[in-house]
Order: sequence, then structure tokens, then C-alpha cells
Amino acid sequence: MNASGLSSDQVKLQARARELAAGPVARRAAEVDRTEQYPWDNVELLKDAKLIGMTIPTQYGGQGKGWLDAVLAIEALSAACAVTGRIAVETNMGAISAVMAYGSEEQKKMCADMVLSGDKPAICITEPDAGSDANGMTTRADKKGNRYLINGRKHWITGGGVSRLHLIFAKVYDEKGAFEGIGGFLAIRDETKGLKITKREPTMGLRGIPEAVIDFEDMDVPPSALVIPPRGLKKGFADLMTAYNSQRVGAATVALGIAEGAYQLALDWSEKRHQFGRPINEFQGLQWKLADMSIKLSAARALVYNAARSGEGGFPDMLMAAQAKVFTSESAIQIVNEALQFFGARGYSRELPLERMARDVRMFTIGGGTAEVLRNVVAGAILKKKLPQTRDGWAKD
Ligand SMILES: Cc1cc2nc3c(=O)[nH]c(=O)nc-3n(C[C@H](O)[C@H](O)[C@H](O)COP(=O)(O)OP(=O)(O)OC[C@H]3O[C@@H](n4cnc5c(N)ncnc54)[C@H](O)[C@@H]3O)c2cc1C
Repeated sequence: MNASGLSSDQVKLQARARELAAGPVARRAAEVDRTEQYPWDNVELLKDAKLIGMTIPTQYGGQGKGWLDAVLAIEALSAACAVTGRIAVETNMGAISAVMAYGSEEQKKMCADMVLSGDKPAICITEPDAGSDANGMTTRADKKGNRYLINGRKHWITGGGVSRLHLIFAKVYDEKGAFEGIGGFLAIRDETKGLKITKREPTMGLRGIPEAVIDFEDMDVPPSALVIPPRGLKKGFADLMTAYNSQRVGAATVALGIAEGAYQLALDWSEKRHQFGRPINEFQGLQWKLADMSIKLSAARALVYNAARSGEGGFPDMLMAAQAKVFTSESAIQIVNEALQFFGARGYSRELPLERMARDVRMFTIGGGTAEVLRNVVAGAILKKKLPQTRDGWAKD
């Protein structure tokens, strides 16, 4: 164990990820942003470095690693390229972790194989009229004989157009039209008929991964496509959302990594840049900024690592994951903004990575549960109360 409580294996993993990040990943980051092309070459690098599918159990070809292992890799990669960090999130957490926890043997094998060969699964929850209120989704899966027909629209789906594997959430209705609960269905782009990528969102940052609108038009899947957690369909959505706590920790980690990268750039520049005949880090105004940035980083790192550790043998604790994501995403935005300020006019130039980092980091108080909604989660957990947000006080069916 070292000072941050990491094992020697974890320190080695961190060093491997940092080397990759500082080398080929850093060199490509600006181009990935400029061209808005998914970095398939980085996917190969991650595969070679065994940073993809690490959390998949060994019997399915993964390494059976924990959330903290994944966090260490994501943090290091995101300091150089947030897009690559996000690929590491989604190939170790989120949809793949839900399938590994709740899927059938057949589903686990299929999904593990796809992820280990480099596919980043897409998780499809958000709809144009159902964002924070995910229960308000209208995408429906109607049982017709021995099939389900899925109809609806999802938007802001990360990886839409590059991901093959999709985990799609829909309201499930039996043959008589009775509502059974929200289920997660597996579908494969270009194989499952009726799954259509209809639009790529023009995003502010994180431009190397497409965010897409996906339409399901009579998408026809067998019941074996349905991932049913042990508590059944009625409670299944809550279980699947428990798996999502891993994704939240992953998102917080990307924000942490971006902020660490920006802080390091500012720290180095503060020694190099001279004004009034002295390095700018001799001005107390900037020293205090560096101090505040480092305090926030240490606090954020502790929250993220602790949330990751809380998930050993299961999923990260909901309260800890929400606390980590709120604090880290908000702090990271402030840190990157301050880091940019250290560079004066240069910070505003596209020739330096600061402006890209500022655009990239802005996402993390939004995607994966907004900072406001996650504060509701934190409040609900500390008050030990359900805090329904609908006017009649109850979640909609
Ligand atoms: C880059 C990016 C990637 C994404 N990737 C995915 C993905 O892969 N899959 C997926 O399913 N979704 C994805 N999303 C969607 C994301 O999860 C939603 O944007 C998010 O849940 C918020 O929903 P919304 O955008 O509809 O905002 P809204 O729900 O319309 O919220 C608007 C505002 O109201 C606030 N608000 C809403 N309800 C409350 C409340 N009860 N209390 C206080 N404030 C409230 C929100 O915090 C926000 O500030 C992604 C989004 C982004 C930006």
C-alpha cells in the first residue's frame, strides 16, 4: 500500500495508464477534438494495454478488476484526452457492468466478447421529453407472441453511430397491454432491424465521441434480449440504476482527470511565465489560486476513490457516487477555468489544450444525472426519504 492506499498492482496499473496517456493519447487529443472522429486507434492502444473490459470477470475473458482499478486508468487517460477516458469508462462501467451483474449467461458472454474486442456499449435512457425524469420515458416494448416490438426515440446517446451493443430502456407491456415495468433490452446496431441513428448532436466538447438521436421503429427482439435483474421487471429499473452508480463514479473520474491535467499545465506555466521580472507563481494572488485548486483536487480524488472502494463486490454506494459526482464535476469546471486564466491570452487559443479542456469538462454537471438531480439523491439518502419530484408526489408509471 502507498500513501493513497493503493496496492503495488494498482500503482503499476496507474503508471502504465499514465505512460500511455502522456505519449500517444496526448499526441492525438487535439486532432480527435478537431476532426470529431472517434479514436479507433486509441481503442486499440487501450486493448493492448488491457485497460478495456478490466472489470469483466475472468470467466468471461476479463481481469475481474475492481472499480478503483478502472478509476486509476480513467483518471490518467482523461488528464490527456477526455474522450479516451470516457471510452475507458464505458468499456468498464455502466451498461457492461449492468449486464455482467444481471444478464443471463448467454448475454454476459456475448457482451463481454463485444467489449473485449473494442466495442463501447451505448446506454439508452434519455428521451426528448424524459431527461432527469427517466421514469417519464415513453419508449415502449410491446409483447407480441414470442417477440417484443420496441418503438420510441432516445437522444444524447453517447457512442450512437460507433457503438454496436446497445442497452435500451423501455416500458414493457404484456400482450394485453398491461404495464409490467421498465426493462433493459440488448440490441446490436446493423444487426437488429429497426434501430436507426437519426442525428448526431453538434456538441460543445468531447467531440471525438458522437452523441446521437436513436429511433426505434418496430424494433423486433426476442425475450432473450431482455436483461432481467433478480428482483424482476417491476423493480428491475431500480436495480439497473444501481449499476449506473459505477458509471457516475466513472464520469466523476473523467472530470477529475481533466482538472488534474489542466492544473498541472497551470502549475508548470506559472514557473515558466515571467511578468514584472519574476515568475508569475511569485504573486500571492496566483499562489492562492494554486492552493485552492490543489485542495479541491485532493478532496475530489478522495471522494471518487472512496466511492469506487464502496463498490467492492457489488456497485458503488448511491450516496457516495452522487456526492463524488456533484463535487468533482463542479470543482473540475472551476479548476479548469482557473488553469486557463493562468495562461492569459494563450489560454484562449486553440493551440493550447486549455480551451478544449474547458469545453470538455463542462459536460460533467449534466450527463449521467445533473448536479441538481444528484443533490436530490444526496438529500434523499441523508434524510432517508423518497423525495418524489412530480406534482402529485408520486413517480409516473
Ligand atoms: C454529453 C452528454 C452525454 C450523454 N450521454 C447519455 C447517454 O449515453 N445515455 C443517456 O441515456 N443519456 C445521456 N445523456 C443525457 C443526460 O443523462 C441528460 O441530459 C440528463 O439526465 C438531464 O436531462 P435533460 O438534458 O433532459 O435535462 P432536464 O431534465 O430537462 O433538466 C433541465 C434542468 O432542470 C433541472 N432539473 C430537472 N429536474 C429537477 C429536479 N427535480 N430538481 C432540481 N432540478 C431539476 C436539471 O438539473 C437541469 O438543470 C448525455 C448528456 C450529455 C450532455
